Amino acid sequence: MSSISLYEVSPRDGLQNEAGVVSTEGKAEMIARLVASGVQDIEVTSFVRARWIPQLADAAELVRMLPRVEGVRYWALVPNRVGLERALDSGIHHVATFLSASETHNKKNLNRTVRESLANVEEVLGVARDEGVVVRGYISTVFGCPYEGNVPFENTQRIVERLLEAGVDTVALGDTTGMGNPRQVAELVTRLVAEGLPVERIALHLHDTRGTALANALAAYDRGVRHFDGSVAGMGGCPYAPGASGNAASEDLVYTFEAMGIHTGIDLDALSAAGVFAEGLVGRELPGRFHLSWKGARERAASRTA
Ligand code: MG
Repeated sequence: MSSISLYEVSPRDGLQNEAGVVSTEGKAEMIARLVASGVQDIEVTSFVRARWIPQLADAAELVRMLPRVEGVRYWALVPNRVGLERALDSGIHHVATFLSASETHNKKNLNRTVRESLANVEEVLGVARDEGVVVRGYISTVFGCPYEGNVPFENTQRIVERLLEAGVDTVALGDTTGMGNPRQVAELVTRLVAEGLPVERIALHLHDTRGTALANALAAYDRGVRHFDGSVAGMGGCPYAPGASGNAASEDLVYTFEAMGIHTGIDLDALSAAGVFAEGLVGRELPGRFHLSWKGARERAASRTA
């Protein structure tokens, strides 16, 4: 049977981009509900300096509170070696590191050149490999940059080569501002695979800013990609990309793939209930399409029985 895996980013990429700070207990409950729905890969937090991202200042405490469930992998974003060491100390064995394919975006987001970021990522990968830690490398703005517009294929290819040499396990291609289109996604995946990136090592991190996330996911699926990032109810965006909002919603991905007979291992009702819980935590209506439809149907049913 054909299947895909969902990598849930809401506790990190979602909450980091919400204005309010959610309690550690609330986050732990949200993650427990995601796990109960069948999600096996969850990026739970980021080990950055607390003053950079106050929403995620409780990283180590949160990791300690998470349920240990067989087959479930908790991932943490680490900006550098110090972050990696803090993640390791907290008991995390799966980390994500990041840089941008666009020089300007990298500079604005990370205050470094791409070259400096690559050296930093390679240092993280070196330590991680020694410690037996699994690493995903995010490359953002692969399908377009809010400052530079088109991002040449060669930028991405050069970074992918370096990441592979340094021993990265997964390369997550990020459509940070939702500028990608299905043809571009299909072509980029095909070219990267032709240049030596094994397709099973590719993950797609899509944004639905312009309504193209699902179409882009299916285009990648048709080229063999089986790993997709999603954020429950569509929580989060990117604060450094003007106008960018809306990670691909996990429910939309699960609904669409399951409807096509492609197995996700996730209970859509349980995931949707987790999305409603997450919405309650952040205190604003979240934009996921399946989320809104599922919630509306439940509210109508409740008002009929009331
Ligand atoms: Mg995102």
